[in-house]
Amino acid sequence: MGTEEITPGLNFIRSIIEADIRAGKNGGRVHTRFPPEPNGYLHIGHAKSICLNFGLARDYRGLCNLRFDDTNPGKEDVEYVDSIMADVRWLGFDWAERLYYASDYFEKLYEYALHLIRAGKAYVCDLTPDQVRQYRGTLTECGINSPCRERSVEENLDLFQRMRAGEFPDGAYVLRARIDMASPNLNMRDPVLYRIRRESHHRTGDSWLIYPMYDYTHPISDALEGITHSICTLEFEDHRPFYDWVLDNLPVPCHPQQIEFARLNLNYTVMSKRKLLELVDKAFVRGWDDPRLPTIAGLRRRGFTPEAIRNFAEIVGVAKRESMVDMALLEHCLREDLNKRARRAMAVLRPLKVVITNYPEGKVEEVDAENNPEDPGAGTRMLPFSREIWIEQDDFREDPPKKFFRLSPGKEIRLKHAYYIRCDEVVKDKQGCVSELRCSYDPESRGGWTKDGRKVLGTSHWVSAAHAVDAEVRLYDKLLSVPDPSAEKEEKDFKEYLNPDSLEILKDCKIEPSLAEAKSGDFFQFLRQGYFCADPDSTPSLPVFNRSVTLRDSWAKIEKSQQEK
Ligand code: ATP
Ligand code: MG
Repeated sequence: MGTEEITPGLNFIRSIIEADIRAGKNGGRVHTRFPPEPNGYLHIGHAKSICLNFGLARDYRGLCNLRFDDTNPGKEDVEYVDSIMADVRWLGFDWAERLYYASDYFEKLYEYALHLIRAGKAYVCDLTPDQVRQYRGTLTECGINSPCRERSVEENLDLFQRMRAGEFPDGAYVLRARIDMASPNLNMRDPVLYRIRRESHHRTGDSWLIYPMYDYTHPISDALEGITHSICTLEFEDHRPFYDWVLDNLPVPCHPQQIEFARLNLNYTVMSKRKLLELVDKAFVRGWDDPRLPTIAGLRRRGFTPEAIRNFAEIVGVAKRESMVDMALLEHCLREDLNKRARRAMAVLRPLKVVITNYPEGKVEEVDAENNPEDPGAGTRMLPFSREIWIEQDDFREDPPKKFFRLSPGKEIRLKHAYYIRCDEVVKDKQGCVSELRCSYDPESRGGWTKDGRKVLGTSHWVSAAHAVDAEVRLYDKLLSVPDPSAEKEEKDFKEYLNPDSLEILKDCKIEPSLAEAKSGDFFQFLRQGYFCADPDSTPSLPVFNRSVTLRDSWAKIEKSQQEK
């Protein structure tokens, strides 16, 4: 960077793009791409890259391609291709007809390799992978030229063609660029362009026995697609000279500009595909869409909305320096979105029976309940109220500590949208555990207000026992028990830091009847419990809900304390 003009209010990538547009570079066009390797499901870090690339195309009336960077047949699979397309669409982006695969360019890439060989800029090398490493040198020591470096063009062409034809076993030869073994940049010390691999590819089948390396494939794919700004993460900064070398030494249609930004890191979770794959493969989680994972599929199942994720990507922005983003910010973005949109509902997660002794047996009343206080247009619904109800176990204490404003013997609380009740008697089971409360209600307090204006401090949610539907509720906590395993004193395997309490399943929850019809993905605010969404496992006979996020906004707290500092 350095030489670009920086426009105030714009992130550095937008500054570069706007300067390019002003200068008429690329005819004023903006064309980006999102280039995932189909070797796993996408995660929240990819979401940042998707929002960035598709967002720039949208804002500068440009285009953004989806390109599968599929040069590693052993690890790639159509399951991943399909999930990636579904996730990008779900996030709200569209590549129209511009779906590409690096494997579509295999023939072109091969011809370009022949071009480099003819120009004396690539050679076939028979050093073993270990030798290649030894000859490469180190950051402080120059590399040593391979003995194969001076092979004639004819011999190189012959060997490379025979590599393709399958005359040699895997690993016998590689094709390397002929650049500079003394370069201070290790990536310029004759990097490998092609290797022999007898592996079936998910798209090209067995038609290729040699596969191009990522660093060679990527610049050419970008150029063939007319990409103007090739945006990638910081670890590719040192690869940029090679990206440029490839394009400068081949008759490609254009020379895209590579721009690097810092990848997104989130605390309390893992983001490398290798680690995610391990958690899935070894069944530490139930699949790629386990709601504890930061995968897009997992976040979706957890109840995250595309709006919340896009907003998160916007807030974290792009920078040149690596940093760790707090998980609380991601959760904050979800709350902001759902607070406006989620219908309120009553669900008792750990039920305690309350019998209202002065309420007539068999009587049922319908009380009016607002669907969303943040959105008057959301209307109201009728909730059945009757003599027996469920309240939350936590809303009662036999020996209440000071400032416990909920129910305890002799005390009164308000039932949300219904009546005041007073606890008259505590019933216990044989083990001495509280099994039922016997209460009386004030018939004059309907709607939650009394005639004499007497006040109570506590309001509880409840569900009529005769009308309640049984449900399963899954509560989630952080995937890891430490914010950043790499910052721990002892270096242990990341799995040692998995939080054993990341999932709690509550099997006998009681929910209001209207929730029984919830369809997978429908979201709600369960009063005082958080935001929840119906899980794909949900059936009308057993609704299943995931807690997406609690109501406690620790991000707002962090922000406040930072402002006070
Ligand atoms: P991982 O390192 O997790 O295995 P990757 O970077 O190899 O993933 P790709 O499929 O190559 O995954 O990534 C596709 C695009 O998404 C790349 O342009 C990459 O830079 C970007 N990307 C991947 N992880 C992040 C992240 N954490 N933050 C921002 N962008 C990311
Ligand atoms: Mg990658």
